Amino acid sequence: MAFIVKIDHQKCNGNGECSNVCPVEIYEKPHGGKCWVAKAKISKPMKEKNMQGGVCQECIGCMACVAACPKQATTVEEEKK
Ligand code: SF4
Ligand code: SF4
Repeated sequence: MAFIVKIDHQKCNGNGECSNVCPVEIYEKPHGGKCWVAKAKISKPMKEKNMQGGVCQECIGCMACVAACPKQATTVEEEKK
């Protein structure tokens, strides 16, 4: 099972709570004032306006990042086959 992890860069404050809590290091440490889903973790990038991320095979869907995000900027959903 894979998950789609995306960050809305219009909402993200770049404080990095998501990267602090993720047990499998899906997120890079923030840079440029935003956090980022690590390119090396993305098997299929998603191209949506202001959104960064994509399908992450290593994400376990624990939702710790979603719970930790104060801006509702990050979303995690199961990939539909
Ligand atoms: S759902 Fe869990 S494993 Fe997936 S990116 Fe968020 S914190 Fe990491
Ligand atoms: S926790 Fe949310 S607001 Fe903070 S850096 Fe991560 S995505 Fe951005």
